Amino acid sequence: MPSFVPTRPWDIVFLVGFVAYIVIRAIYQERAKGIERPVSRFDRKELALLVLVFLGCILLPVIYLFTNWLAFADYPLPPYFPWAGAAVLIAALWLFWRSHADLGQNWSATLELRKDHQLVRHGVYRSIRHPMYAAILLFGLAQGLLLQNWLAGWSGFVTFAVMYFVRVPNEEQMMCEFFGDEYRDYMRQSGRVIPRRRIKGEA
Ligand code: SAH
Repeated sequence: MPSFVPTRPWDIVFLVGFVAYIVIRAIYQERAKGIERPVSRFDRKELALLVLVFLGCILLPVIYLFTNWLAFADYPLPPYFPWAGAAVLIAALWLFWRSHADLGQNWSATLELRKDHQLVRHGVYRSIRHPMYAAILLFGLAQGLLLQNWLAGWSGFVTFAVMYFVRVPNEEQMMCEFFGDEYRDYMRQSGRVIPRRRIKGEA
């Protein structure tokens, strides 16, 4: 059971951001609930990745915030780290919110396509194909810059980076299979997480 509440100011800043992150996800998850998912690529590898990400992005920070079990991994951070972390946290939450809003009912926690799935290329999807993953990587970076604990601090970034590198090729393959040239064209005109705008016809 939790043994204490967070008192370190930067832990509280992280906790507020963490709650905002969960609320954004819950709102859009609820809106997409009940829409059929005729295509699913959920397999054991996906399950393992989701468990890994749950551990690094949710479980370890919660254990750090509400117990002293991870005190062995506490370390001091340079004072400017958390200030940078707070700025990255705000950027991450903004991008997380915008990517959910733009993806709308086409969102899934795993590799799936919904009934009447639309290929989204507008808003934050215009110049990058994976803004939601970019937002989660930024959130992981903020976690590392804010929490004075090398384990709970960096677990989010490291576990989500593994998820990113394993999942993205499979996701893009799935999208190519179902959207064909439309998605291949989109791939040529956008970056994965680094913005790129390429005018049609440009080499
Ligand atoms: N990789 C995207 C979406 C993450 S949610 C991002 O980081 O923003 C994962 C689901 O989104 C996938 O299962 C796929 O069905 C869907 N998806 C991914 N890119 C999409 C796009 N451009 N338009 C519509 N759906 C997309």
